[in-house]
Amino acid sequence: MTTVAIDGPSGVGKSSVSRESASRLGFGYLDTGAMYRAVVWLCLNRGVEEPGDVVEQIRGCDLEISTDPKNFYIEVDGIDVTEEIRTDEVTSNATIVSAVPDARAELIEKQREIISAAEPGIVVEGRDITTVVAPDAEVRILMTARDEVRIARRTQQLHGSVDEATMKATAENVIGRDKKDSKTTSFLTAADGVHTLDTSDIDFEASVQAVLDLVEAARG
Ligand code: C5P
Repeated sequence: MTTVAIDGPSGVGKSSVSRESASRLGFGYLDTGAMYRAVVWLCLNRGVEEPGDVVEQIRGCDLEISTDPKNFYIEVDGIDVTEEIRTDEVTSNATIVSAVPDARAELIEKQREIISAAEPGIVVEGRDITTVVAPDAEVRILMTARDEVRIARRTQQLHGSVDEATMKATAENVIGRDKKDSKTTSFLTAADGVHTLDTSDIDFEASVQAVLDLVEAARG
């Protein structure tokens, strides 16, 4: 059983690289950000914002997330929210869940359960996987890229084109969110034993290959 933990800021390309690496390795894939997003969606839907109430929502809900890298979906209480969790509203409200320590503890417990049941391995991505969720993972990677590269990647993903206006609109979404997130999780510098993978000047294929090489090296 091999765990590959991948952390990094927004717009770095973690999800696509993690999913493709998992697929090629024949491993499962866990998008922990999607779990936070699904709970944010639930709380917004129910008008819940108080930290204590947010924790209650997590305890009382049935969160089902696919770990198949080729067929991703996430459901809350039987409702498929795979598309809904990607809206601006959910993205910009992420911290109503992620900044609440007890909410994190609940989600981390669920994440660890999923990781320990994964065979023959799993690629797990997020903000605190290398440091908190799975610090004993066989492979631990911090994916980084220069700010302007991350903004351009996210702009392309959201708008389908990159120009000055769309870049400007996306900058807050990327840099502002990292600033908020870095109050609760540490994903801007690599912890001891964590490989830094700077993808600023390499493409998607080279990024996937770099992950596969690190897995190969770890397996000896
Ligand atoms: O990775 P993604 O952008 O989908 O994550 C959405 C939000 O979930 C992040 O902005 C952050 O607030 C939270 N998150 C977290 N810890 C993780 C994964 C995501 O706090 N491991």
